[in-house]
Amino acid sequence: MLCYTAAMPVLRLAIATPLRRLFDYLPPADTGADTLAALAPGCRLLVPFGRRQLIGVLIDTVSETDVPADKLRPALKILDHSPLISPKVLALCRWAAEYYRHPEGEVLAAALPITLRQREQATPRAGVWDLTLAGKGLPQGALARAPRQAALLADLQQQGASSWSILAAQGHSTDARRALRDKGLIEETEAQPATPVPAWLDGPPLSEEQARAVDTIIAGAQQFSVSLLHGVTGSGKTEVYLQLIRHTLAAGRQALVLVPEIGLTPQLAERLSERFDARIALLHSGLAEGARSRAWEDARSGQAHIVVGTRSAVFASLARPGLIVVDEEHDISFKQQEGFRYSARDVAVKRAQLENVPVVLGSATPSLETLHNALGGRYRHVRLRQRIGDATLPDIDVLDVRGKALQGGMSERLLDACRETLDAGNQVLLFLNRRGYAPTLQCHDCGFIAQCRFCDARMTLHKARNELRCHHCDWRLPLPRACPQCGSSQLNPRGLGTEQAESVLGRHFPAYPVYRVDRDSMQRRDAMADLSKTVNRGNPCILLGTQMLTKGHHFPGVTLVGLLDTDHALFSADFRGPERMGQLLTQVAGRAGRASQPGQVLLQTHYPDHPLLRTLLERGYDPYAEALLEERRNLGLPPFGQLLVARAEADSMQLAEQFLAGLKRAGTSDRVQLIGPLPSPLQRKGGRFRAQLLAVARNRGDLQQLAARIVAEGEASAVSRKLRWSVDVDALDTG
Ligand code: ADP
Ligand code: ZN
Ligand code: ZN
Repeated sequence: MLCYTAAMPVLRLAIATPLRRLFDYLPPADTGADTLAALAPGCRLLVPFGRRQLIGVLIDTVSETDVPADKLRPALKILDHSPLISPKVLALCRWAAEYYRHPEGEVLAAALPITLRQREQATPRAGVWDLTLAGKGLPQGALARAPRQAALLADLQQQGASSWSILAAQGHSTDARRALRDKGLIEETEAQPATPVPAWLDGPPLSEEQARAVDTIIAGAQQFSVSLLHGVTGSGKTEVYLQLIRHTLAAGRQALVLVPEIGLTPQLAERLSERFDARIALLHSGLAEGARSRAWEDARSGQAHIVVGTRSAVFASLARPGLIVVDEEHDISFKQQEGFRYSARDVAVKRAQLENVPVVLGSATPSLETLHNALGGRYRHVRLRQRIGDATLPDIDVLDVRGKALQGGMSERLLDACRETLDAGNQVLLFLNRRGYAPTLQCHDCGFIAQCRFCDARMTLHKARNELRCHHCDWRLPLPRACPQCGSSQLNPRGLGTEQAESVLGRHFPAYPVYRVDRDSMQRRDAMADLSKTVNRGNPCILLGTQMLTKGHHFPGVTLVGLLDTDHALFSADFRGPERMGQLLTQVAGRAGRASQPGQVLLQTHYPDHPLLRTLLERGYDPYAEALLEERRNLGLPPFGQLLVARAEADSMQLAEQFLAGLKRAGTSDRVQLIGPLPSPLQRKGGRFRAQLLAVARNRGDLQQLAARIVAEGEASAVSRKLRWSVDVDALDTG
């Protein structure tokens, strides 16, 4: 047995387990030399793992292992005969696992569609089929008695080599395929089919700024570069992406476009398909599994010209990548906040470097990280300062609501402005970032406040469903009739949510529809797309919603934007609060007057003289962001220092803090500043106590060393099994 081991190569696999290590196996018992030689990194194998069978991804083939010969087990089966993950994506995953200190097997799992992650489903060999010489020379009508074979042959004659997933989608069966193969008329080829360059429409002539942007970004053509496309809303950024994509397609390459929200994928896909007669693969979590793995396969095989997706699409393998676009790069949805905590934007930049292609980060309100890189010359800084056509950027008017009567959170002036806008045949967008009817239910007689039993949080009143709901753990209770503390029936909603504003608006403007847009009202998969269509028919209406409304959606009929209550953002405990507020206000305001009608933005506040607000309103986002950068520089906060947050969740606060204190001891050095352990802002969630340790390092190298030490300590810690813990490199959220 021992000498057999020495003669056999050892397969080093990544397996999706919480362990931060790779696992060694022998090839399956009956593996022939040819098969073994063809086995490349990125192929999957089925392996025994304890008592289970799991799927592993081959990382490396080695000749020596530390695993004793009697413990070394053979894999059960080779699932892929060609790598399922491209070499560049494999390298990207390995980099990300190292950078974010996350188990490699789990990172690779994130790079695969669920069907290929879990089930022992083998992919067809290469999966690309083409005519043999005999097949090409076959006279017409030769297969008259086998119509299904004839049809498959005809399709291949017409479209050339095709991946089996496409042929199957065209209705061809594996029986026909087998018959033709046995007759020697078709064969499986290793070569990728040549995808024809699609036709396109020209699009409008570019403005001078846009043309310059396109030139700057593709100068140096298909080489690695990072550009910040920094353009006010409505300045034609999307049009710039379209032109860049056109160049990419013309060069026979694929474009990958990342968007922050599922809701934006159909919208962008529509714009792309109006312009390009191209095959577009959509990749996001809202798709059914089958559709998603087909899209993934299209991206990998090179059949898809353009791949549009959310966060995890950054790991989609591409046969011929040529361009990566990250739209709304400042959006925090690009950061995964649990499990494998990565930033798809940052991973996109790394990927562009590995693939040696340009990456474009687009935003009207760039993140301070990206802006810092652009101002420092590390990224190309491409500006679009003007809106397209005669659209002008609206001014933001401040409505001082101190002492003013409010109905449903709206002042008289805001309601009047709504009426004027609607009566003139235009549309109104109102922003209120709190769903439900009211964030608090309070007893008027004794002061009792309904609290979640499991969290340090108040229950939100959802009147339409007659229930109280915790927005942190989703615990739900029927609405009590009497105060549980004193029995009084005087239970009153306090504060304002979208449901309440909706009912007030409905009463005020019975002649106009009010569309509420929040997580509760938009649960259906196509809800947002349907709403967009309805609203964009152009009839006067009111759109009332949370963040969901602010993300890139295009509502050309909106001429009035009202912000009901954004004051809490001025006093956020998170150091990123002011950055978020600036982005939010600017993005919401940008929804107004995008067509040729001028827009109006009304901001209600109790703090009209707040210095942050004044800077933003008087000088705009860019100077505001630069002022914030200066402040961050003075405090050594990101992007000037590198932030890591270690979190622990346990049955007691003491345990959580004790664990983190151990990490702190392990991480202490004069190259990092460690803060904590401290209870998290939401101390108790879902019945568990939460604490965190913050670390700020001078540079990435120091942070990486710290992360390594902390993770090693956490894994070795005796208490770690009694709690849940995580390390968040480049944390966005200190909550
Ligand atoms: P952004 O992505 O910056 O918000 P878009 O690319 O969506 O801006 O452009 C805003 C509007 O202007 C869209 O309706 C778009 O079709 C139009 N547009 C963009 N560029 C041009 C151009 N060069 N000529 C005419 N219309 C344009
Ligand atoms: Zn009471
Ligand atoms: Zn709760």
